[in-house]
Amino acid sequence: MSIVAPDNYFDLVIIGGGLAGASLACALRYVVVGTPLKIAVVEAYELNTDSQPSYDDRTVALSYGSRCIFESMGLWSSLAPAAEAINTIHISDRGHFGVTRLTREQEGVEALGYVLENRAIGQQLYAAIKQAQDDVNNETSADTGTVSNISLFCPASLTSLTQDENQVFVEIRLNNNQQTLSAKLLVAADGNNSRVMQLMAIGSSRQSYDQVALITNVTPGRKHNNVAYERFTDSGPLAFLPMQQNRCSVVWTLNPEVADYLYAIDEADFLAQLQQRFGYRLGKLEKVGARHIYPLFLQSASQMVHGRVALIGNAAHSVHPVAGQGFNLALRDIALLSELIVNAHKSTDDIGQQAMLLEYARQREQDIQRVYRFTDTLVKTFSNAIPPLAHMRSLGLLLLDILPDIKHQLARQSMGLTGRLTRLNRGLRL
Ligand SMILES: Cc1cc2nc3c(=O)[nH]c(=O)nc-3n(C[C@H](O)[C@H](O)[C@H](O)COP(=O)(O)OP(=O)(O)OC[C@H]3O[C@@H](n4cnc5c(N)ncnc54)[C@H](O)[C@@H]3O)c2cc1C
Repeated sequence: MSIVAPDNYFDLVIIGGGLAGASLACALRYVVVGTPLKIAVVEAYELNTDSQPSYDDRTVALSYGSRCIFESMGLWSSLAPAAEAINTIHISDRGHFGVTRLTREQEGVEALGYVLENRAIGQQLYAAIKQAQDDVNNETSADTGTVSNISLFCPASLTSLTQDENQVFVEIRLNNNQQTLSAKLLVAADGNNSRVMQLMAIGSSRQSYDQVALITNVTPGRKHNNVAYERFTDSGPLAFLPMQQNRCSVVWTLNPEVADYLYAIDEADFLAQLQQRFGYRLGKLEKVGARHIYPLFLQSASQMVHGRVALIGNAAHSVHPVAGQGFNLALRDIALLSELIVNAHKSTDDIGQQAMLLEYARQREQDIQRVYRFTDTLVKTFSNAIPPLAHMRSLGLLLLDILPDIKHQLARQSMGLTGRLTRLNRGLRL
C-alpha cells in the first residue's frame, strides 16, 4: 500500500456517489460543533452528466417518510419543485374483481409519496455537495457555527482496499493516477456489483425473478389527478405513477423476450399494447418517451458490516421495484448510519468502532427483512394466472378495502413510518 498524502486522511470515505452515497454525504455535510467530519466521496462517473448511471431516466416514488428525511437534511425545499405528489394509490388486478385505494385523507398526511426523476434528485444532491464545498472555501459556514468538509474524487474508481485495527486504506485511480486515502470508516455505496464487497470477500445471495422492468413515461388523454396506479396482470405488475406536466412514469414488469419485443416496436404499436394492458382509466395514451430495460432480482449481502466497512443502498440490498421501496430503504440506512456517526463524532469516539457498526447492522435487520418479504410476496402472488391464486388475491384486495386497520398498517409501511424512527425521520437535525 502506498503512502497516504497529508490531505488524504479522512474520517469517512464513501465509495459510490450515486443516489445513496451522495445522500449520505449530504446528510453529513454540515456537522455542528467540534472538528469537522472529513468526508471523501469516490465516484466512477462524472456526477453532472447524462452518463451517470444512478441519476438516469428512471423515476423514484419517494415515500412520505423519505420526504421527512430529506426535509431534515435541508434538501426538500430544492427537491420539491421537481416532485409530483401521490394523493391516492389505486391497486387492481387485471381481469379480476377486487380493487383497493389508499388515500392521503385516510392517512392524514399531505401526500402518500412523491414521484421524482432520478436525474433531478442527482442534480440536487450534486448541487448540495458543491454548495457545502463552496461554503467551506468561502468560510461562510463559520457564521452559522457549522462546518463541512467533503472532497469529491470523480471520475475515480476503487482499485484496492485493506483495513487494520485503526483504519481503512483505499487505493483509487483518478485521472490515470493512483492515490491512497485512509479513513476511520468506509461506506460501500457502490451498487449491486459492489467492488468493495468483492475486495472484502463479503458474499451475497441473488435470486433472479426471470423478469425485467421496462420503464418509460407516457402522456395520457385525461388528467392523472395525482393517482398512482398499481395494476397486477398475469405477466407481472404494471405501475403508472403521476409525474409533472401530466405525464405518467410507467414501470412494466415483463418476461425478457416480451420486453425485448416491446422495446423494439414503434411508438404507436407500443402505446397500443400498453393501452390494452392498462385499460382506459386515464383515457387514450397519447405520447411516449424513451424506453429502457432493467433486470430484476432480489439481492442481499451476507453482512451489513465488516470490520470498519458498512454497506448502504443497493450494495446491501436490491429489491424488485413493484412497491417502490429500494431507494426508500437506502434512505433509512442513511438516516440511521448518519445518526450513529454524528453521535460518535460528538462524543469524540471512533466513528468506525465495531460496537457502533454492529448496532447499525442490528437495527437495520428488521426493516430490510420486512421489505424483502413484502416485495417478494407481492411479486410471487400477483405474477401468475393460476385460478385459485387469482381468486384469492381478488378476495385479498376486496378484504383490504373493507378492513381499515390492515389497510392503514399497509399504508404506514409503504410510507416508511413504522418501526424505530430515526432523528431525520422525525424531522430533527443530526
Ligand atoms: C426499474 C426500477 C425502478 C425503481 N423504482 C424505485 C422507486 O419507485 N422507489 C424506490 O425507492 N426505489 C426504486 N428503485 C430502486 C432505486 O433505483 C435504487 O434503490 C437506487 O438506485 C440505489 O442507489 P445506490 O446509490 O445504492 O446504487 P446505484 O444507483 O447502483 O449507484 C452506485 C454508484 O456507485 C458508483 N460505483 C460503482 N462502482 C464503483 C467503484 N468501483 N468506484 C467508484 N464508484 C463506483 C456508480 O457509478 C454509481 O454512481 C427502482 C429500481 C429500478 C431498477
